[in-house]
Formats: sequence, structure tokens, C-alpha cells
Amino acid sequence: MKAFCEECRDYEEYRIEENVRTKEIKNKVIHFEEKIAYCSVCGSEIFASELRDANIEAMDSAYRITEGLITVPEIENLLEKYNIGKRPMSLLLGWGETTLTRFVSGDIPSKTYSDLLIRIGESPDAYLELLISNKDKIVEAAFRKSFDATTKVLSKTNTCIIDTKIESACNYIISRSVEITPLALQKLLYFTQAFHKVFEGNFMFDEDCEAWVHGPVYREIYSKYRNRGYNPIEDSLEQFDCFDLTESEREVIDAVINYFGCYSGKILETMTHIEPPWKDTRAGLSENEVSNRIIRKELIERYFNQVYEKFNMLNVADIRDYSGDLFEKIRGNLA
Ligand SMILES: [Zn+2]
Repeated sequence: MKAFCEECRDYEEYRIEENVRTKEIKNKVIHFEEKIAYCSVCGSEIFASELRDANIEAMDSAYRITEGLITVPEIENLLEKYNIGKRPMSLLLGWGETTLTRFVSGDIPSKTYSDLLIRIGESPDAYLELLISNKDKIVEAAFRKSFDATTKVLSKTNTCIIDTKIESACNYIISRSVEITPLALQKLLYFTQAFHKVFEGNFMFDEDCEAWVHGPVYREIYSKYRNRGYNPIEDSLEQFDCFDLTESEREVIDAVINYFGCYSGKILETMTHIEPPWKDTRAGLSENEVSNRIIRKELIERYFNQVYEKFNMLNVADIRDYSGDLFEKIRGNLA
């Protein structure tokens, strides 16, 4: 990548460094990773337009996470899922015709508007009801298109079609747990990913987790269960009885459920807080700083290989020694 360097008076290659930036938006102090370009020839800071967009996006996303607001990609997903345009969706919701168009272009919705969108996005049933009861606000063709897409989404939920491995892992964990909160689910996914790499040689999912305040978080899964907050996911469990996992994947997850599933989300959070992958990724951040930094797969691999060595692990049942040890370590920190 090249950009114009004022010092060299020419287009030069640049290298990128990341910096924690603090900014105040609507009376909220937020922190985010800013990418800065430096000229490879003379080392002075230069302006790179590609980075500006990424930085604005990082700032926007940090603000939305702090406030629990829906993000632009989440809105776009929802429109695509229900096959509805921005204008008709706005009308269905009883908003101004261009309101949703503004949100998709980056305007930040109020909490009330955002919560409504999140609820609709999570529940095809709620959307279908909205669609039918406001049918006369939009043209027939738009109604028909969206109605068909939504009923398809609903039948898909009922017939078990899984798109990603991480969804499969989630469903499996939820269906095998008595009561699990989104917080605990995130941690079990993290240990599953780590131990699958250790025992099977590859990571179970492509998705990366981020070093959030409350420990490692897979953003896609956070979006899916965000409205539960600290409450357990306890919808009819049959709906989670839908997954596509190999025998060895199941074995790893079963062991993680056996040896970590007995701890609360808070305890699991504390466990991840004392270990290098999360801690090192958050270097330089204070306890409550929002961060979207990715916990790199190499960090997870390196650390859990050490765990594997340290506990002389032969098979997944040996995860028990590690989880027990981890619990002993944090015991003192628990109130
Ligand atoms: Zn230069």
C-alpha cells in the first residue's frame, strides 16, 4: 500500500501501527484501536485514506458495544434475512420513510429504535407479526417477497439447517446444558476452540474471538444472544438439538462441558482473565475499556500447547486437571 508522504514529496509504501485511542462521544468515553500509517522511507506519519474508514468503523463499533446498540452489519443482515428494503422496513416499524436508510449509512439509532431492531432481528415470529399487521403500509410485491423469505427462515429454524461450525457447537452446548448464560456459553466456546486445536490439530471454527471486558467473546454469537443479558438461554431445548459435528468434535465439547460447565459465567470469566491469550491481547487497556482486539489464534495455540505439556495430557479427560487447577488459582479472587 502506498500513500503520499509530505516529507518525501512522493508516494511511498507505509507500515501500520496500532494505538489505543480515547475519545468522547455523546458524553461517553470510549477506547478503540486506531491504525496509523508511517512512511517506510522516512518514518514520518502519513495520511492513508484506506485507514481512515477502518478507524471510523472501529470507533463506531466501540461506541455501539459500550451502549449495547445494533451495528450497521447487523441491520444489513436483518434486511437480507427478511428480504425487505430499507424504506418498507421503516414504514412497517412506523418510522419515517428514510429513517432506516440513515441508520444503514451510519447514523446511530436511539436505544429504543435499536432495541426494536435487535428484537425483530432475533425473532422471525415477531417480524412476521409486524409484517402482517402492517401489510397495508407497503406495496403488495414487497409484502409477498418478505413474507416468503420470512416463512422460509421460520421453517429453516424448525428443520435444522446449520450454516457454521460455531453455530453447531453452540447448539450442542446449549442442548447439553441444564442452564447456560450467554457469558458462560462464550467461555465454553473459547475452551472448545483451544482444546480442539490441542487434541485434533486444527481449530474447530474459523471465527476469531475478541478480548472484551468480560473475557473472550465471539461476536457473531454475542449478536445472537445479546438480549438474554445474564439470563440463561432456556427456550425449548429441542430447537437446539440441531448440529453437525464429528465424533471427535463432540468428544472435545463433552469434555469442556464436563470440566467447565459446572462453573458460572462469572467464574469462567475470571478464569480467562488470568491467562495470557486474553491478558496479553488487552495489554495497555484498563479493566473496563471496551476493546475489539482479536485474540489471535496463534496466541491461543501457543498457550494451550503449554497447558497440554504442563498437565501431561493424553486425552480430553485430562482437561479436568487443568480446570481444577485454574479454579484453585482464582478461588481467592472470588467474593
Ligand atoms: Zn517519507
